[in-house]
Amino acid sequence: AQSRVVVIGGGFAGASCARALKQEDHNLAVTLVEPQTLYTACPFSNEVIAGLREIEAQQFTYDGVRRDGIEVVHQAATGVDHAARRVRLADGAEIEYARLVVAPGVDLRFDAIPGYSETAVEAMPHAWKAGGQTVLLRRQLAEMADGGTVVISSPPNPFRCPPGPYERASLIAHYLKLSKPKSKLIILDAKDQFSKQRLFQAAWQELYPGLIEWVSLSMGGRVTEVDPSTKTLITEFGNHEADVANVIPPQRAGAIAAMAGVADQTGWCPIDPVTFESKLQPGIHVIGDAAIGGAMPKSAFTANAQAKVCAAAVISLLRDRKPAEPKLINTCYSLVAPDYGISIAGVYRPKDGLLAEVEGAGGTSPLSAPASVRAAEAVYADSWFRTITGEVFA
Ligand code: FAD
Repeated sequence: AQSRVVVIGGGFAGASCARALKQEDHNLAVTLVEPQTLYTACPFSNEVIAGLREIEAQQFTYDGVRRDGIEVVHQAATGVDHAARRVRLADGAEIEYARLVVAPGVDLRFDAIPGYSETAVEAMPHAWKAGGQTVLLRRQLAEMADGGTVVISSPPNPFRCPPGPYERASLIAHYLKLSKPKSKLIILDAKDQFSKQRLFQAAWQELYPGLIEWVSLSMGGRVTEVDPSTKTLITEFGNHEADVANVIPPQRAGAIAAMAGVADQTGWCPIDPVTFESKLQPGIHVIGDAAIGGAMPKSAFTANAQAKVCAAAVISLLRDRKPAEPKLINTCYSLVAPDYGISIAGVYRPKDGLLAEVEGAGGTSPLSAPASVRAAEAVYADSWFRTITGEVFA
């Protein structure tokens, strides 16, 4: 029988991997399992929240993936039979695999903050999976009166897109400054440090003086409970009543990872850094946000880079060849304003069973730079988004 690789999840990780598998070996049968027919990308969704872009600019079909000869099945995977090497789908069908790639992204932990739940997201949107939640947060901001208080609660590590909450705060501040200048924004943080912190804080002082207040963990930033009926966020140091509350809860790998037996007690999936094969289940690989194993941040850039390395390793393993030692790159752009971009980059390679950052190979934008440098980075961010979504979905 022809060997088939099944990929669960058609996001940046899974769709990239399915395409890379087909590109490496056109005769390989590849099935992509993804319940949604339209993918809504998170990168640049903070621009939608700030009213700078429409949600449609974030949405992509699977027509391009299908054109490569990949079978796309719009079903959710509901289980994995390891002995028979079969994936079960929501409609009861089963697909046999020679190797399986699991790429379901993250799930929000609704058990982590008392008061927060799957219904509380209507009053206090997370907007951490792009789509209806993104549009809802946008609408709540548009409807807020001038002089209102916006509160963002930022989760502990690890989570999807480490600079994301701070880019969001920046772009919301941009909107408030122009449209509702008497308003303020508070970030309640479960951490004492965050990605590109010095760059963000310097930019806030320059562009939005007095508008953004960041409350660190040590200053009482960790949200311990919420009350959606009054939009109150409770911390050990007191209560914050919001007009608009954006609660970004702690996260874990998408539920199918646990069902497939590839998630550990942390909720994330430990992997071999050369092949992305699960450390818990042979024959199953995990890539993207769901995977954990070292220093790589959870980003679309990372997901795409891991997908290519994983595809090459899967092909090598199917041919009984030794997979090559990879080097992976990540770059994360953030917009502080539409014409003000900053970035962080890193290079990673396997070391002692983990993906370790190569010392001195990465870095961030310079702390002080002329406006032209910030404007150029905003242009790079935009072209990065167009390039990656083109590569993954077009
Ligand atoms: P996802 O993109 O979430 O894809 C997972 C897919 O799996 C989904 O389509 C889902 O429907 C599917 N799935 C889940 N369960 C099942 C199942 N049981 N069966 C079948 N399919 C299933 N990254 C950057 O690089 N740059 C940025 O500027 C950036 N900005 C961001 C801004 C925000 C506000 C946010 C929230 C994120 C941002 N990110 C950014 C991070 C980026 O969106 C994620 O890291 C990336 O989407 C991870 O890709 P993934 O494929 O692992 O997960």
